[in-house]
Amino acid sequence: MANETNNQPVTASAALAGMEKILNQPLEEFNKAFLESMFAAYFDKETGKYMQAPFSPQMRILLKPDKYKFISAPIKTDLGRLVINRYMLERTGFIEHVGYFNGVLNEDGLADLNAKINNAVLTDKMDTKALGEYIDARDHLGFWVASYLGCSITPALIRPMYDVRKRKNELFKQREAELKSDNAVTQVKAAGEIEKELLGMVTNHLKEDDGWDMYASGINNMSNNYKTINVMRGAVFNNVTKKYDVVKESLMDGIDQRGITPFANSVVAAAYPSAVGTAEAGVMAKIILALLQSERIDPNPNSDCGSTATIPVTIDKKYKRYFLFRNFNVNGKIVSSNLENIDKFVGKTWQMYSPMACKNPVICAKCAGQIYHNLHAENVGLLSTQITQKLLNLKLKAKHDLSQSAADIPVETLFWHKCEYVEVKDSNLYAKAPMKLFIPRLLEELKGFYREATTVSSMAMFPVKFYNSQGSPVLSTMMTVPGMLTFNVYDDIQEDENYYILSYEPGSLICNLGIQTTFVNVEFFINQIFLYAKSPQLPYKMMPEMFFRCQKINGTDLTGPCITYELLARRVCRDPSNTSRSFAYVYSRDPNCNQLAYTKQPYRVAVHDAGLLEGIVFQDPAKAMSVSLARRLNGKKSGTTPLETIIKA
Ligand SMILES: [Zn+2]
Repeated sequence: MANETNNQPVTASAALAGMEKILNQPLEEFNKAFLESMFAAYFDKETGKYMQAPFSPQMRILLKPDKYKFISAPIKTDLGRLVINRYMLERTGFIEHVGYFNGVLNEDGLADLNAKINNAVLTDKMDTKALGEYIDARDHLGFWVASYLGCSITPALIRPMYDVRKRKNELFKQREAELKSDNAVTQVKAAGEIEKELLGMVTNHLKEDDGWDMYASGINNMSNNYKTINVMRGAVFNNVTKKYDVVKESLMDGIDQRGITPFANSVVAAAYPSAVGTAEAGVMAKIILALLQSERIDPNPNSDCGSTATIPVTIDKKYKRYFLFRNFNVNGKIVSSNLENIDKFVGKTWQMYSPMACKNPVICAKCAGQIYHNLHAENVGLLSTQITQKLLNLKLKAKHDLSQSAADIPVETLFWHKCEYVEVKDSNLYAKAPMKLFIPRLLEELKGFYREATTVSSMAMFPVKFYNSQGSPVLSTMMTVPGMLTFNVYDDIQEDENYYILSYEPGSLICNLGIQTTFVNVEFFINQIFLYAKSPQLPYKMMPEMFFRCQKINGTDLTGPCITYELLARRVCRDPSNTSRSFAYVYSRDPNCNQLAYTKQPYRVAVHDAGLLEGIVFQDPAKAMSVSLARRLNGKKSGTTPLETIIKA
């Protein structure tokens, strides 16, 4: 709708006529028919003629305050933007707070506008009903005009580009060794660089074409559909060889014999996650709801439990909005983050008050922050499933995006403590001292974690111990790599109740440090660390910090505020001397307590411990009844839940 390269004069008479029509149209009559009469070209069956639209949304106009009262000075804009402002912002009342929107309405521009709208609601300037109206208006407008303004295919998008094909052949020859390397990271990096150069050439060819709009807006992804159809299939992971097959051919080129396996693998990699993703994300939503439904905040916005304990959080630019309206301990003073000051928090590590460190059973306002008070929500645990909704969308989308990326993990983030007992050569991790890995025994429960004769694959977050040559421990720490790694097995695997124990002698190769960067690792993190683990895998106060590190390395954003993960940690990490209490009880009373001394409850235990109704709602009535009966016989009471309140009312 908004094309900056259009250089028509802003005084063209057609544009001015269009402006008058848009300004004079009553807001309640802004509808599909009106927009079609303005901007849709059509074929007239009666006259057999193709009719041009009277106006184009790109027609430039000079808009003045005497014509439109929501601007304070004349601005250069266009007809499309005027429609957006009148229909989406003026009609819903948001224009009073966010002003005239004169940006480019591509993916980033829309995200900016949405953020402004959301902030107007979060700061209580507008209510959620108006937010709903804005969302409806935005989506109506998009769907109404897509059929005549959105051009999804043109001849230029289909025709082969001979110079691109020639360059592709040259590059594959030049970089053959890297593409066939034994190191998956080397393979994916080389394939990625080749794709980038070729797609740069494609972009240059297409820039002036109508079909480019969809790509320029950020809605279509050049490095996905177009690349696969017309340039090259690229890197496809082969689960048998644990390497990538880098396929030079595109779908237009056709598949040769060597290409059959990787193309078939890519079909499976595409269809499988979306086929089972609905079920998996649904189960996770159910688990999180069952776990968190009893977490509540104190409705008094000035409540303060008196805790001085905090959790460390490093606030990345990409995730800053998830730390809004929270309280921080800055040199002994309580400082709240808000829309005006959040940028000052970016890029540094802060001490944040948290439900994980709240003394009270009902979380106080200092520890929870103000966001839920602004939203007038008390039963905050029930608001936490937006992350599983996002996960579901990622799984469904996975079939459309098979682009692969891989990363090397920076050495300094491998372990919780600084560690001089390992070394890294060519992305491979070697032991320099005798050491043991304690891999949680979740391989049977968690899909994607597995054990073979010579390897174990697991999320690399678990306890590690190093020893001197006499066999005495010299360092006990945690491996903290938020991704799936495959560990070599040299001796028989030892087992205890909670762990598989792998031993390494100095000089032995432990694993390759390349990980596939994918949202699947983020899902593994939630499953392993928060839901399934039966023993501590990470230091208590580091759990949210490590979760955001996991999201960042894997290029994922589950769109959940940090407090979601704090509530999860609060729920599943219990006081070992009395598991009906959260570990927050211990930590808030002794900020120097051992961060690994908590009892980690797997989610099933946590759900049944929470109360009878949680258990029944979780569809395990028999267990729920027996746990509840035992509790009653022992004279213990369980708390009420929001659902219980509704049922009893
Ligand atoms: Zn508190």
